[in-house]
Amino acid sequence: MEKAQEILQKIYGYSEFRGNQQAVIEHTIQGNDALVLMPTGGGKSLCFQIPALVLKGVGIVISPLIALMQDQVDALLQLDVRAAFLNSSLDANSAIAVEQQLLSGDLDLLYVAPERLLTPRFLQLLENAELALFAIDEAHCVSQWGHDFRPEYRQLSILQERFPDVPKIALTATADLRTQQDIIHQLHLEKAKIFNASYDRPNIRYRIVQKKNTREQLHFFLENEHKGDSGIIYCLSRQRVEDTAAWLREKNWDALPYHAGLSSTIRQKNQTRFLREEGVIMVATVAFGMGIDKPNVRFVAHLDLPKSVEAYYQETGRAGRDGLPADAWLSYGLSDVITLRRMLEGSVSEEQQKRIELRKLDALLGFCETTVCRREVLLKYFGETYQAPCNNCDNCMEPTSTWDGKIAAQMALSCVYRTGQRFGVKYLIDVLLGKLTDQVQRFRHDKVSTFGIGKSYSSLQWQSIYRQLIAANLIEIDIAGFGSLRLTKKSLSVLRGEETITFRNDPEKPKKKTKSTVKTRDKDIQIPQDGLWQALKNKRLEIAREQKVPPYVIFHDSSLIEIYHQKPRNLHEFENISGVGQTKLARYGKIFIDVINDFEEFVSEDIRF
Ligand code: ADP
Ligand code: ZN
Repeated sequence: MEKAQEILQKIYGYSEFRGNQQAVIEHTIQGNDALVLMPTGGGKSLCFQIPALVLKGVGIVISPLIALMQDQVDALLQLDVRAAFLNSSLDANSAIAVEQQLLSGDLDLLYVAPERLLTPRFLQLLENAELALFAIDEAHCVSQWGHDFRPEYRQLSILQERFPDVPKIALTATADLRTQQDIIHQLHLEKAKIFNASYDRPNIRYRIVQKKNTREQLHFFLENEHKGDSGIIYCLSRQRVEDTAAWLREKNWDALPYHAGLSSTIRQKNQTRFLREEGVIMVATVAFGMGIDKPNVRFVAHLDLPKSVEAYYQETGRAGRDGLPADAWLSYGLSDVITLRRMLEGSVSEEQQKRIELRKLDALLGFCETTVCRREVLLKYFGETYQAPCNNCDNCMEPTSTWDGKIAAQMALSCVYRTGQRFGVKYLIDVLLGKLTDQVQRFRHDKVSTFGIGKSYSSLQWQSIYRQLIAANLIEIDIAGFGSLRLTKKSLSVLRGEETITFRNDPEKPKKKTKSTVKTRDKDIQIPQDGLWQALKNKRLEIAREQKVPPYVIFHDSSLIEIYHQKPRNLHEFENISGVGQTKLARYGKIFIDVINDFEEFVSEDIRF
């Protein structure tokens, strides 16, 4: 373990292990198998990289995502770790060169795609090489229960058969109990120790805003909180992706579209810009994201509701992998509830499938409507108990009040009933507010008992009431009737006054937020904004472009922020920055110290004149 500690400090430039890392590393160095469950950004890579460096021989890393291998290897090369990858993107000569390195013991880590690993030729090569360990990344891909099943992963069981004495470490950020058991079973990891970390992502701030004018709300959010930041905006349809991206560009945001309808050349181009440049916003359908491990995605915004709580968690999980503050922002409203309920009603799935879908939708709507800590609700969904408040979700930061909605609910429901269960929300609200529209007169609904009884609430409040009633299954959507509302069995007891109902008070206006100290995984940190920060970022981008790597491969934002705050003036001070090991110190120390010195000089000259 001493060696592991030394590597952590000298090579990676980190002062201490995080969470389970130390335990996993110790366990693996001793030659044991492990299954590591750690949330995104938890630091899984170190769990196999450090043992591979400590143990003799090469660590073989199996990864399903070709795009990621390059980044991981680039990052290791920056640390002077002897790393390479083998996948279909390499030409034959380069592949042969890598195989030579493998055989002559010149590699510490080798990333391979499962297809390649499983070829008889490669397995034979492995027999002739000295192996430190096997790391199976994204191990949930082995299971059909998981969310991203890859048939080739199944055959990885061969590793235990052919290399029983080489330690194996399977890693994933998403595996429920069933998937975990399947991973163990499929990979023959019966003896593996399971290292289970909390799913919590403390640096992500969860927030749901009530849909009014989505674009304006989004603009307000970006303008106030994410100028110059990189982020992802998810929309349900391709059209909405295109429209939103175009609209943002008009407003001078560097926004790009991404969806399955674009040619693969354009998709690739947009993705590369998103990864390699700073401050690019990707407007996308869910087709975007798998395998994006850009660490400094500062926000994930949803303009439409995701499919389920799982999908929400996975999509928002792409924010803040670096542990710095990040936002999960979702705009939600009556139209979402109606659309989703309607889609479900109209779905042709079998009864049982439909019940599962219904339960998932209920959970998602429950999450949107909740007035308690969102983190608590999310983690509970994944079977974890969390001690609220988290102080980093909208409900914790600005507690939402509730009100006794018994009478209002009765009015809303009986208006549905009195008008014959044939109308949509807009019409029902007209009746409740006593509006004599043509339609109301034509149907003579100015004569029903609910006409005009709802004047003590505004139209907006009625929308909120109907939304909450639909979300709670107290009203259903009649799909045959073009979105007209109907009562349900549950609504009768409310109408009879047998049940209490509380509604949430939707917040009126978003507050202007000033950037202040925000919660992060390790400590409270302030993200800088001024000229020195810009100068440091520019230098990083310049170096990254020269080397054709993403800026975060040079320095993570967290290191850059530390450089900004500490303002190291010599190499000795620079060495203390987290994320600066010996190699990065030698390569970049002086360059960044110069940036600081130049900037300070420039500022003091400014003052003099
Ligand atoms: P995962 O693969 O679990 O999503 P990574 O291995 O990419 O996470 O790590 C996430 C981030 O945390 C990376 O920037 C990594 O360098 C950083 N990190 C990992 N371990 C430590 C540590 N012990 N101290 C400081 N930073 C760490
Ligand atoms: Zn909270």
